[in-house]
Parts: sequence; C-alpha cells; structure tokens
Amino acid sequence: DGMAPFRDARWTAAPVIAGETLGGGETLLANPADRTQAVGTVVSADKAAASRALDVAMAAFPAWRDRPAAERAAILDRIADLYEANTFELMAILCREAGKTRMDGVLEIREAVDFCRFYAAEARRLPPASKGLGPFVCISPWNFPLAILTGQIVAALVAGNTVVAKPAEQTPLVAAKAVALMLEAGVPPDVLALLPGDGAVVGAALTGDPRAAGVCFTGSTDTAILIDRAMAATGSVRAPLIAETGGLNAMIVDSTALVEHAVRDIIASSFQSAGQRCSALRAVFVQSDIKDHLLAMLEGAAMELRVGDPWDAATDVGPVIDEEARGVIEDHCRRFEGAGRLLFRHPLGDAATTGLFVAPAALALDGFDALEREIFGPVLHVIPFEADGIDQVVDAINQRGYGLTLGIHSRLDDRVEAICRRARVGNIYVNRNQIGAVVGVQPFGGEGLSGTGPKAGGPHYLARFTQPGPSA
Ligand code: ADP
Repeated sequence: DGMAPFRDARWTAAPVIAGETLGGGETLLANPADRTQAVGTVVSADKAAASRALDVAMAAFPAWRDRPAAERAAILDRIADLYEANTFELMAILCREAGKTRMDGVLEIREAVDFCRFYAAEARRLPPASKGLGPFVCISPWNFPLAILTGQIVAALVAGNTVVAKPAEQTPLVAAKAVALMLEAGVPPDVLALLPGDGAVVGAALTGDPRAAGVCFTGSTDTAILIDRAMAATGSVRAPLIAETGGLNAMIVDSTALVEHAVRDIIASSFQSAGQRCSALRAVFVQSDIKDHLLAMLEGAAMELRVGDPWDAATDVGPVIDEEARGVIEDHCRRFEGAGRLLFRHPLGDAATTGLFVAPAALALDGFDALEREIFGPVLHVIPFEADGIDQVVDAINQRGYGLTLGIHSRLDDRVEAICRRARVGNIYVNRNQIGAVVGVQPFGGEGLSGTGPKAGGPHYLARFTQPGPSA
C-alpha cells in the first residue's frame, strides 16, 4: 500500500512569498473523517503579507512576461511530472485533509496533471503578440483543492502573469504541497506566492487591491459578487474576473430509459464525493410511470454504498468538509423529513461517530422552484413529471439560471436532441453519469449565474489571462 508511509503524517502550510516561508501562530487542521485526528498545521497570512506578495509579483512580472511562452510551458510539463511522481502523498493529503476517497483523489490528481499538460500545449499555440497582464490573484475552493488551484495557477502563469494564490481555509495543506512542487519544477520563486488565510481578510485584501491585474475565482456565487464589487471599487476596470460558481443541476429520466443504467448514474452523480461537486446532481426529474420502479431500485443501490473513512479503499462515500456544511445539509433533510418528504436515507451504521458523515438521502419535491438553493452534500431530490411535460421541465431548469450540468437518460434520439437544443446549461451528459469534465475534450463551465466563461480546460480559456477588460 503506497499510502502507508503517510498514515500518521503531519503536513504544514504557511504563507510563501519569494520562496520564503513565513512563520506565525499555527492552527491545527483536523481530519474530517475523525475530528480527534490532527492532519497538520497552518499559519495564516494577514493583510500586510497580501500587500507584500503583490509588491513581489509586480516586480517579477516584466521578466516573466517576456520569457518565451515555450519556456513557461516546459515548466508546466515538469509540474505534471512531479505531481505524478508524488501521487501517493498528494492522494494521502486529499484523503486526510479534504475527506476524499482514494478514487476521487486519483481522479483529482489526474485532472490537475491534465490541466498542466493541456495549458502547456495551448500556450505553445498562443499568438506571439499575446502578453500577460500582471499579478493575477487566484482564489480556489476546498472541494477540488488540488485540481482547481492548479488549473487556475498554471493557466495564469503560462499566459505570462505572476500569481498570488489564496487557497480555501479548509484545505491549505494540499495547496502548500502543490506550490512546493511548482517551485521545485522551476517556477521562479518571485513569480508565485501562496497565502493561506481567511477569505474575508486575505482574499478581500488581494481582490480589492488595484495592483491585481486580474482575478481567477472558483467558489460561491455570493463570493463572486463580493469580488466583482471589490474589483470595481479599485477603479481598475481593465482587470478581468474569471469566475466559476455554483450550480443547481438536474437530470431528466424518461420512461424509455434503461433503469439500471439510470440508477447507477444517479448514484454516482449525486452521492460520489459526498455530493460535494459543483457538477453534482441535485434534482432528478422522473417520468411518473417509471417513478416507483426507479425509486425502489435507487433505494436498494443507495443502501449498498459504504459510507465511512476514505482512507479505507472500500469506502464509496466519505465525510463532508466541516461542521458548518454538515449542519446545513442535516437541517435541510430534517425539514423535509418533518414534512413527510423523506423517500429514503442510508442508515450510516457504524460510520465513525467522530467524523463528519452525512447519510445519503433522497427527498420528494413537487417542482424545481421548491428547491431554494444548492445543498452541497449527498442529498438527491426527486420530482415526477408527466409524459407531455418535458418542455416545461427544461423551462423550469432554464428559469433557475444555474445550469452547470444537465443529465439525460432516454433512448429516444429525437427527444435527447430536443432537450439539448432547449436547455441553457454549461455541460450536458447523455445516458451517463454527470460527473466532471475531460480537460481538452469536454471543457467545464456554467452559464448565467454559474460563471463568466470561457470554460476551463477549453481552447478559449488561456486567452482570458492575456486580455484586459471586465468579465465577459
Ligand atoms: P465555498 O462555499 O465553496 O466555501 P466560498 O466562496 O466561501 O465558497 O469560498 C471560495 C474561496 O473564496 C475560498 O478560498 C474563500 O476563502 C474565498 N473567499 C471567501 N470570501 C471572500 C472574499 N470576500 N473575498 C475574496 N475571497 C473570498
């Protein structure tokens, strides 16, 4: 077991500016699968560190901008090599800090590697006249703490920008390891700073600073709006905001669907990663005449999920990220249960009581409107529809304006095409699970309230890091 050496490891994270690690008060980080177990310590940056990081990034910018793109691309390829060589340690950190299953950990490392190699190849094709803009602020979330952080940083860097990165409060350890590998791969120390810390302090200081030439953000829509305002208040209207935010994702299962396949894909789309993906399925629309059959099979499949410690290779569903997240999910389920709308819930069994486990559950819903917001956990809502109601279903999805992903299970080609034409969502998945994206093949991104575009992992993404101007 390649993970064995890391079973009891302690990792550290701290601000890194110009290759120097800053000291300060340390905070313990606990394993979400066992709150009694410390995974490492973090030193948080303050506003002064944010300002100094931007000074360094400003000074380093001209030389980095003027390096040939091919040289910057070669560094990205070396980062990919180092990520691959460090797979077990990265996977162990993802598992113990973020509660990822081993499978999710491997997939995430793959995605990070793909981002590096894809943007390296894209950078070699950038028009020679395109130039970086200056210091880019990259703000990333905890749910893909390696892949998103890496994708943001390497895209900004390879396009000729310097970077100040602010990882999520919950996941500084994997960020620290990632940045250490980037520096080892040859990113000049003054070109990349890492500032773990509070979003409202460090994130706000960075995004509200007129020296930030652009911001790349993934997280909640509310925070994206705060950042947009902070950037506007600096008066530097030339700084782009590249934002990827929340979604409220649906799947449509009609009566021609192969029920076994639909069930398998619903389980994966709504419960894998404990539902903590922006692409995750939140509400499945099921044609009434197959609803009971599908629900019975779905319940059976859900009961077979193993919920528990993600360090155990047999685990399907790990913990959620923190107490606050668990509270929100459980409150939501309790409200539905009180209203007699609980369809089924996993018994959890002896999933450790010391961990932040939430029982995968399905809840009955009358219409998409009744779901007030994205519940970021292993909770599926089920909405019935009648045979003549497909257009209204798609309209209901469009009206929410949060379309990041849409799944379709149907064996009627005409119907699938009609839904695809009508739906305004970022990514559509037909007769498969609605999980993830394939860098370079199926770029990922939302529309409307879900993000600004262009899609990460797609052919137009890098150009945004070289073009001044507010968000698209
Ligand atoms: P989530 O719901 O995924 O935690 P957030 O939007 O709160 O989403 O967090 C995503 C990232 O945004 C985190 O790195 C967080 O620290 C950062 N962040 C939070 N508030 C702000 C802010 N006011 N300005 C800049 N960044 C922020």
